[in-house]
Amino acid sequence: MRPYIIANWKMNGSFDALDEAWGIDEAAGEYRDVDVAICPPATLIAPMADELSYAKAGAQDCHQAESGAHTGCLSANMIGEVGGTLAIVGHSERRQDQAETSAIVAEKLIAAQKTGLEAILCIGEPLDVRDAGEAESYVCQQLAESLVGDIDPAMLTVAYEPIWAIGTGRVAGESDIAAMHAACRAQLVERFGDVGAGVRLLYGGSVKGENAPQILAIDDVNGALVGGASLKAETFAPIIAAAA
Ligand code: PEP
Repeated sequence: MRPYIIANWKMNGSFDALDEAWGIDEAAGEYRDVDVAICPPATLIAPMADELSYAKAGAQDCHQAESGAHTGCLSANMIGEVGGTLAIVGHSERRQDQAETSAIVAEKLIAAQKTGLEAILCIGEPLDVRDAGEAESYVCQQLAESLVGDIDPAMLTVAYEPIWAIGTGRVAGESDIAAMHAACRAQLVERFGDVGAGVRLLYGGSVKGENAPQILAIDDVNGALVGGASLKAETFAPIIAAAA
């Protein structure tokens, strides 16, 4: 399976940050056996999509509706129109800040795929759930509830991101990542049949150049979704290199 490394810039980056995108694109050109994507703030999708040669540009979210009275939102079609080819859906910061339920995330995922965007579905448990020993059932339930309806597994990537590991410098243990990815893989195969074995499963949560080789070597980890370390080409390029 081709490894997939995705940058999530969150609400960071003005026009001068495009230089970092060009640096990331250079790294993507150097390691062509790795798929690389950047999801910048919406304002930077078009300029990136116009200029990137090897990395793809995408969005951090899309609305589930095609158009209408949804102030401040972007439809999947709008993202595609400016050259975006993927959309992250269900990031934990949106599930928390915008009260997005898995039912809403499922609709967003279908809306993205319907317009030809790849969907990157994020799932992950909060710390109290992990401490209670219920992480696996929580995440599997999120996965099931986010994959409802007519979904194309060929246009789907799943990112497991334990919430307590996002932006904290704390990485999940290797055996915990392996166990969670194995559980997600089994569920994907149950949901999609053999094709489910080909859906890429990424890990996210404080991935950096230093820990990427260990994380990416874990069974069923097919890449990484990266926040903080993706903002600079010099910290993101080593993660791409580690996946090659
Ligand atoms: C993320 O926001 O998806 C993420 C994984 O962030 P960080 O790499 O900063 O933990």
